[in-house]
Amino acid sequence: MDQTEAHVVTIASLDGVPKLLDYRLPSELTTIKEGSLVLVPLRNKPCRGVVITIKNSSPVRHLLTVKNILEAEPPLPPDLLKLAIWMSRYYATPLGDILKGLLPSQLRVDRQIKKEIFVSPAKPKYLLRKATALLREKCPLQARLLDEILMRKGKILKNELLSNVGVSSGPLESLIKKKLLKIEHIEINHPLLEGQEYFKTEPKTLNPDQQRAFESIIQSLDKRSFAVHLLFGITGSGKTEIYLQTIWEVLKRGKQAIFLVPEISLTTQTIEKFRSRMGEKIAILHHRLSSREKYDEWQRIKKGEVKIVIGARSALFCPLNNVGLIIVDEEHDAAYKQSEKSPSYHARDVAVMRGKVNEAVVILGSATPSLESYTNALIGKYHLNRLDQRVSSATLPQVKIIDMKKENEKVKGIALFSDLLLEKIQDRFRKGEQTILFLNRRGYHTSLLCLKCSHLFSCPHCERALTFHLGDKILACHLCGYHLSPPPKECPSCRTTETLKYRGRGTEQVERALHAIFPEIRTLRIDGDTTRQKGSHDRFFRNFSTGKSDVLIGTQMITKGLHFPMVTLVAILNCDLALQIPDFRSSETTFQLITQVSGRSGRGELPGEVLIQTQMPDNPTIQFAAAGKFEPFYQAEIESRTLFEFPPILHLTKISFSAEDPKLAIEVGHLYRKELIALLSQDFTITALQPAGYPKIKDLFRFSFLVKGKKIYPISDGVIKIRETKSFSKKVKISVDIDPLSTFF
Ligand code: ADP
Ligand code: ZN
Repeated sequence: MDQTEAHVVTIASLDGVPKLLDYRLPSELTTIKEGSLVLVPLRNKPCRGVVITIKNSSPVRHLLTVKNILEAEPPLPPDLLKLAIWMSRYYATPLGDILKGLLPSQLRVDRQIKKEIFVSPAKPKYLLRKATALLREKCPLQARLLDEILMRKGKILKNELLSNVGVSSGPLESLIKKKLLKIEHIEINHPLLEGQEYFKTEPKTLNPDQQRAFESIIQSLDKRSFAVHLLFGITGSGKTEIYLQTIWEVLKRGKQAIFLVPEISLTTQTIEKFRSRMGEKIAILHHRLSSREKYDEWQRIKKGEVKIVIGARSALFCPLNNVGLIIVDEEHDAAYKQSEKSPSYHARDVAVMRGKVNEAVVILGSATPSLESYTNALIGKYHLNRLDQRVSSATLPQVKIIDMKKENEKVKGIALFSDLLLEKIQDRFRKGEQTILFLNRRGYHTSLLCLKCSHLFSCPHCERALTFHLGDKILACHLCGYHLSPPPKECPSCRTTETLKYRGRGTEQVERALHAIFPEIRTLRIDGDTTRQKGSHDRFFRNFSTGKSDVLIGTQMITKGLHFPMVTLVAILNCDLALQIPDFRSSETTFQLITQVSGRSGRGELPGEVLIQTQMPDNPTIQFAAAGKFEPFYQAEIESRTLFEFPPILHLTKISFSAEDPKLAIEVGHLYRKELIALLSQDFTITALQPAGYPKIKDLFRFSFLVKGKKIYPISDGVIKIRETKSFSKKVKISVDIDPLSTFF
C-alpha cells in the first residue's frame, strides 16, 4: 500500500515495547498533535501510546491504523516531550518508559478513587434518642455508639467512631440493620494542610550578601535566557528567603516556578513558608496524594490555575506552560537520584536540562554543593553566588571532634556516649534547651553472632547480617524484610546456646541507653521504624519543635533542612559508618552529613555546639567538615577523583546483571561487556565484571561493571544499540545506571 497520501505517526508505546512504532493516521482523526495520547493495536490488543512525530510517509509497509485519540486527555506539552526525548537518549531508556514516568499514573491505570467509609444518622435525632434509651439496658454497646453519633453534627469516619467508643464493628452492623445509622463511601481529599490558617508573612529586607545573590539571579531572569546559578550558602544563611523573593519576581513577570526539595524535606515547615508568602497559587505534589489527586493536580496545573509547583523530584515534570524559574533546594541530596526504578535519572541534572528547554533560570541551592555542581561553577558554566554568614544573630556552631578510641579504653569496650557528650546533654536538659543525636543505623543491635563457631546470623535471601529490634522482638533483614521472630537462642551451626553475642548499636539502643542514664530526660526517636505510619513524620517534628521532648534521636531523616531554634547541641554518635562504605563518594557524603547535621544546631538566638564522635579523629574529611572548610575539602577530593578517574572528572555508567543463578548472571555480564567494548573507542575504560557491593538481594545474585569516559552519549548509544540488536537470557535482569551516585550499592 502506498503510504505517501495518508499521514503517518510515530508512537512511543506506554505498554513496554521499547521501539518506536509507525501507524497510519485515519483522516477523521484531525485533532491529533505531537504529544497526543492515542490507542493503537499492538499484538492484537489496544495499547496506549504517545504521538512523537507526525510525518508523510514511513519506510514500513503494511502499517496498522491508529484506533482512537484519547480526547479527554490533553496532549503532553511540547517542552516535556522534548525533555523526555532527551532523557530517553541520555539515560538509554525506551521513550515509552520515560513517558510513563512523566505522566500521572491515572492516565495509565484504571481510575481508582480513594474513598473512606463514613457513618451518619439514618433517622432524625429525636428518634435516635428514643432508640438509645430503649437499647441502653440490653445492648449497651449500641447505645454508646448512638451517644457518640448524637454528640456530633453530621458524619463521622467509621474507624474514628469505633475507636472513640472502643467497640468492634458488630454493634455498628446491628444499628445499620435496624436502619438507625447508615454507611456512606465518600471520596476524600488529603491535601497537606488544606483549610489550615496561615499567618501572612512579609518579605524580609535582604542583607548585603543576600541582596547581591538576588540581584545576580534577577539579572539572569531579565535576560530571558537559560542560566544556572549555584546558590552556595551555609546552613541558616537565608537561602529560602532568596528563593521566595525570586519566585515573587518571576510571578510579577508573568511566569511560573518549580520548587524541588528532597521528599523528606517536604514537611509542614517548608510548605508553611511558601503558603504564608504566596497564598493560593501553589500546587504541592507529595507522595501522600492518591493517584486520583495527582491527576487532578496535573490537570489544574495544565489549565494554568497554578503558578508555583512544589514537590519532590517528579514534580519537575509538571505541565506548567510558562516556566521561568526552577529551584533545586539541597541540590547535593541523593534523594534527587531515582535509583529504585528505571530510568535512573538525576532530577538536578534533568532540572538543568528543563531550564535549557524552557529558556528558564535554574537555581541549585546547597550548603554543601556536590562536587559536580561546584566544579561547574568554578569553570564558569554556572554562576556562583555565595552566602558565607548566618542571618542575624545566629552564628555557626562550635564543632569539637571526640576521639572515641580513648573513650573505649576508659570503658574497656565500645562506648556509645563520650563523657563530654553526657555532660553536655545533662547541661542542656537543665537549661531547658534541646539536643539532637544522630546515628545512621536503626534497630537495637546490628548483628548477632556465635562466639564459639563464628556463625553470623544473616539473611538467607540477601547474605546480610540481620538486625535485632528490641521493640518488635525480631531479627530482621533491612534489605528484604525477612525476619526471625522470636530471635533464635541457639546457634544453628554448632548448637551451643551460651555463646550467642549481639553486636553493634542502632538508634533503638541509643534511646534505651540514654533512658538508663537520665531517666528524667524525654526522648523522641525518628527513624524508619518509628515513622512507618503516614503523617507520623510531621507529628514528630511538631512535637519536638514545641518542646515536648528534650532529645531527638534519629537517622538520616533528621538531617534535612529543619529549623529548631531551641536545639543548641548536636552530636554525631559514630561518624565512621559513612566513611567506611567502600565508595568513591563516601568522603563527599560524610562531609555533607557532618555539615548538614551540624547545621541543625544554634539556629536561634542561642549559640550552638556540635560533637563528632569518631575513631579517626585525624581523618581530613572530618577535620575539614568540623572546621567548615569547603574549599580545602573540595581541592583534596578533586585531586583524589582525578587520580582515580571518578566523577566529576569523568562520567561513570554502571551496568548490572542480576539473576537467581549466579553463573547465568556472570555469563550474560561477560557477553554484554564484550558487545559494549566492541562499540566503544579506546577513550573509554571498562572495568571487570565483579560482584556488586551487596552481592545478593532477595535471592538474586548481582554483578556489575563500570564504564568510564569523558562523554555519555557514546555509552548510552551503545547501550541502546545492544538493546535493539541483541537478546540475552530473560532470566537475567540487566540494569543500566548512567551517572550512578555510588559504585558500591
Ligand atoms: P537556609 O535556607 O539558608 O538554611 P533560611 O532561609 O531558613 O536559611 O534562613 C534562616 C532564618 O533566617 C529563617 O528563620 C529566616 O526567616 C531568617 N531570615 C532569612 N533572611 C533574613 C533576613 N534578610 N532578615 C531577617 N531574617 C532572615
Ligand atoms: Zn534479606
